[in-house]
Amino acid sequence: MTATFSRQQMTATALIGTGLARRSRQKRVGDACILTFHGVCASGEDAGLLDASLHTPQKFFHELCAHLAKNYRVLPLDVISRMLTRNEPLPDRVVALTFDDGYESNYRLAYPALREFELPATIFLCTGFIDGTVQPWFTQLEVAMARATVRQIEIQIGAVPLRFSTATQTERATALPTVLRAFKQLPQSAVAENLNRLVKALQPVLDGNIPAPLRPMNWKQARELRDSGLINFGAHTHTHPILGRCTTEVARHEIFHSRDRISTELGAAPALFAYPNGHAYDYNADTKHLLQEAGFRAAFTMIPGRALPDTDPCELPRYGSPESLQQAEATVSGAFETFKAWRQRMRRAFSPSM
Ligand SMILES: [Zn+2]
Repeated sequence: MTATFSRQQMTATALIGTGLARRSRQKRVGDACILTFHGVCASGEDAGLLDASLHTPQKFFHELCAHLAKNYRVLPLDVISRMLTRNEPLPDRVVALTFDDGYESNYRLAYPALREFELPATIFLCTGFIDGTVQPWFTQLEVAMARATVRQIEIQIGAVPLRFSTATQTERATALPTVLRAFKQLPQSAVAENLNRLVKALQPVLDGNIPAPLRPMNWKQARELRDSGLINFGAHTHTHPILGRCTTEVARHEIFHSRDRISTELGAAPALFAYPNGHAYDYNADTKHLLQEAGFRAAFTMIPGRALPDTDPCELPRYGSPESLQQAEATVSGAFETFKAWRQRMRRAFSPSM
């Protein structure tokens, strides 16, 4: 995480310093940049987390909103999706803001900044989380690891043998990505059993409370956001499984049930969907077919890239959340993409000919 961040940060600084970001912003037309956030975190609230990267600091989020409002055209994702579907030309400098899962911090900390700058956003709800009946498996895992009382774990998760130290918060935080990766390779039907086994081995002190950034919003708050006219809601399954690792039956239930819970609670069926985890192997042709059958117009991945009129509407790309204004500008302006294309051209030009 840190290594990736600092490498990206260095590239971003260079792209801005050389003026490439400014030129990209001026030249880039006809595509949309869709940013993905999860939670927003007030100062000091990240103390109980092992991985704060999913929870954008509130102060930075406010600065980012100010920057986007001044320099870009932030449109509702629903509007962008319709324009792409109809093959209508997008205006230049188009950005959309999205939030996954439905954290309470979206309501408490992100919405005030969005309202101040009149920026629309879409929140993709994991409906069981909002119902208060589901705690997504990855947050259960993070909380159990953060509160472990044993010093060392040796456990087999699916095909992956794991051995890690849990003596300090730093060691637990270091181990977390490896443990998450092992869980993401499991078939969905094996997640609960493996999670129970790991939690038992960790012997965590669980008091029923979870850190504030990991708490869900409720339906009343979602209705208030809907009524503001700025916030639109999409679906993100009911229990947050990786759909590509589910049977068709389970994937169908997750997609249809999350659609129906949103229809019941918010009065309209959602047209947009975001894949949990969202990488290439996290959904498949079956998943896309089910989404179309359930009446979704568009679905969003976590594969970085620009959304264009000829992009598959069930595989619209999104960028992760930036961690600095420079990273945000290099991403949103398209400078990262311009740089990537230039690097590929150079590699081809200098690779030995066959
Ligand atoms: Zn999610």
